[in-house]
Formats: sequence, structure tokens, C-alpha cells
Amino acid sequence: VDWRSVWTGLVDLVLPDTCPGCGEPATPPPCPDCLRLLMGEPRRAPPDPTPDGLVVPWAIAAYDGPVRDLIVEHKERARLTLAAPLGTGLARAVSAVIPVGRPVVLVPLPSQRATVRQRGHDPMLRIARRAARALRAQGTPATVARLLHHTRRVADQAGLGQEARGANLKGALTVVTSRRPPARVVVVDDVVTTGATLTEAVRALRATGVVVEGTAVIAATRRRGWSGPTDGARTGVARPPGRTLPARGYGD
Ligand SMILES: [Zn+2]
Repeated sequence: VDWRSVWTGLVDLVLPDTCPGCGEPATPPPCPDCLRLLMGEPRRAPPDPTPDGLVVPWAIAAYDGPVRDLIVEHKERARLTLAAPLGTGLARAVSAVIPVGRPVVLVPLPSQRATVRQRGHDPMLRIARRAARALRAQGTPATVARLLHHTRRVADQAGLGQEARGANLKGALTVVTSRRPPARVVVVDDVVTTGATLTEAVRALRATGVVVEGTAVIAATRRRGWSGPTDGARTGVARPPGRTLPARGYGD
């Protein structure tokens, strides 16, 4: 039993909830304004520079403001009620790759075992399952396959430059499956920054003959030439002053 999840689930039930995106009361969070930010139109979000071998991801939001707060709050503080809206947002990005009604296998980027233990949950797996559920509700037969595993422990990506990230991750992922892997998959993650992790995932899957139909994320860090759908759209969502966010851990 995942007692930490049970506990945070109970706290979520008992305490009046606030929206992690803007601090306003919301039951369940996020509030409608912040939820709308997860309902953006999918856009291609190529990192700049784009790593060789990357299948350019689709994203539905820029990684800043309330969207960033929602992702971090779910991941770092196990606010599990956020998994459903985040999954629905991810499903929108996947819909840019897969036409409605065509079966799709989602492959989430894996968390390291120590990180899952520390956080008490596997945020990306949870979001991927919610995304699959949202896709099925729209008539797209979607499943989640945990194909990717770490071959070794990798250093925290935060603070590493583009090249160092690539070197840190080269050969870090492998496909482990007792059965035959699916022929075609869509790789999913929460955020794309340099694209190093997604590139390594694509490499590992292709090495075993799996076709990567596309990659999809919730949010992309802002790069020249790409701006999120939140641009220009004044949502009236204000962040509480003085909020500090934990640095993002492993991943990118
Ligand atoms: Zn809000």
C-alpha cells in the first residue's frame, strides 16, 4: 500500500482546497481559469537547438506561470487530484499525433526508482494513465506501456547544459518487456526543456524496432520561435506574491 498517497488523498478530502496555479479556493483544484490553460491547442515545440534523433514533441502550454505550478505541485507534493486535468491536457497533445479512433500506446518516460520512493508516487505514470483514460473517453483506444527503464542511475539534469545532458543520458534508457513490445508508440512526458530525455527515449525504442509515431508533453519551456498558447491571452490569473517553486528534479 502506498501510504503516502493514501495520506495525501485523505488530506485532499478533508481540507478546503486551493488552486496551486493561483492560490484561489477551488474544489477540486485547479480553478476554471487555470484549467483553461491546460486546454490549449497543441503546438509543435522543438527545443532550440533540436537534438539529433529527436521526434519533435507536441505541447499544449508553455512551462511557466500556473501551468508550471500545477505540474510541480502534482509531482513534488503529490497533489494527486491534479493528475486528471494534467492527463487531459496531455491527451490533447497526443491527439495532435494520433487521429481520433486509432489505437495508441503511450510510453511514459520513467522516473528513477529512488525518486519514486522519495516522492511517494510516480507522477508521469499517473498522468499517462489519466491521459489514456481521457483519450478512451473520446473514442481513441489508448493504453499505457511502461517499456522504458533506466540502465543506470543518472545525475540530476538540472544545472547541466544541452551537451552535458545528452552525455549524461546517452544509453541511460532501455526497453524491457517480457512480451513483444508494441509496433508503434507515442512517447509522453510532462515537460520538454532541451529534449535530451525524449531523444534518449526515442533512441532506445528505435533500437528495439519500435516505431515512435510522435512525442507529446504537457508543457514546453519557452524557446525562441515557440510561444505557448498562454501568450497574449490574459487570463486574469495572478500568482500569489512571494511563492517559490522547488527546482525541478530529474528529467527535462
Ligand atoms: Zn487557479
